[in-house]
Amino acid sequence: MADPATDRDIAMAGKQLGRYPRGMVAVGARCVCGRPLAVVTRPQLPDGTPFPTTCYLTSPEAVKAVSHVEADGTMKDYTELVEHDEQVHAAYERAHRLYLAFRHELAERVGDSEEHIKGTSAGGMPVRVKCLHAILAQTLVMGRGANPIGDMVLERIADEFDPTVCRCTTTLDEPGE
Ligand SMILES: [Zn+2]
Repeated sequence: MADPATDRDIAMAGKQLGRYPRGMVAVGARCVCGRPLAVVTRPQLPDGTPFPTTCYLTSPEAVKAVSHVEADGTMKDYTELVEHDEQVHAAYERAHRLYLAFRHELAERVGDSEEHIKGTSAGGMPVRVKCLHAILAQTLVMGRGANPIGDMVLERIADEFDPTVCRCTTTLDEPGE
């Protein structure tokens, strides 16, 4: 991982999530201010629990923006696109394979088993659109072009969340913050 998690990153992600970010190995994407937007979590949590959502959205601003899209019924449109648009369908399958390859590389590096999550990516891939949070996290970690639905979500929420515009409010309760 190019950007391994520091103690400060882990503390910040914990603040953002409101819980300790178990299994966090790296920051996968950062806001322009440096705060984590999405973190990379190992395929097995420290207690051995299989964890398929390798790219995990932590930015509360992003989580909120995506929740608005999930609530307004757009998921159905996205699922229909994946079902009926050949290009989107193919790109979404590719996103699924990218996700699995990314995790496999991580699993080998940290020595985790993928036995219980083999073939499982996240967000409903490769045929459904079930969790836009997971899908946006992939887009933030892997960049535009990795997941067609993630790209659409990012465009749709640009007024509320944009990785190049800091709207972060989470702070650490420590001197120097
Ligand atoms: Zn920020």
